[in-house]
Amino acid sequence: MPRPVCARCQRPLSLCLCALIPRLESRTRVLLLQHPSERRHPLNTARLAALGLVNAQLEIGEEFPELPLWLDGQDARLLFPGPEAVCLDRLPAATADSPPQLLVVPDGTWRKARLLLHTNPALAALPRVTLPPGPPSRYRVRKAPAADAVSTIEAVVAALNVLDAPARFEELLTPFEALIDGQIAAMGAETFARNHGAPEQDT
Ligand SMILES: [Zn+2]
Repeated sequence: MPRPVCARCQRPLSLCLCALIPRLESRTRVLLLQHPSERRHPLNTARLAALGLVNAQLEIGEEFPELPLWLDGQDARLLFPGPEAVCLDRLPAATADSPPQLLVVPDGTWRKARLLLHTNPALAALPRVTLPPGPPSRYRVRKAPAADAVSTIEAVVAALNVLDAPARFEELLTPFEALIDGQIAAMGAETFARNHGAPEQDT
């Protein structure tokens, strides 16, 4: 029999993270698009990001026919690399009468994210932005596709820290950090070191 899971964070009830999830306000709206293959992943950080932000929306699918509706009237940008991508910290600063900004974030492995772009031309047509250089990901459990890859929730925090400056969004990471610590503990330090390199030293 499967273990009972929390309906909200979808963690096993004994490991529910809901008490750690904040409700943060942001000026920029966040639209998270998740490939269905990510939905049941134990480290579903897009879901944690969506639960922690009042102004975020999580949609799960391969095709999003409603996308043009969601993008209508928004100053929307896609957080995804590309030759034309602009670093977020190079965007002109928003003013009081700027239209509301919408950050669209594909969730999943690079391969799945590219697939989402391929299947949804409205997504691929959006102007693209990338994260400014920052500290390496704390997302050590799941092998990252590239050295500078971060988890979806870390990417959202880094992007909002720039777009909504001077507001800060690190609090969003609280359940994520608990999740990572829990995963590492469950895996066993030895297995972790073998599969993911030596843990960072606290020096
Ligand atoms: Zn929960």
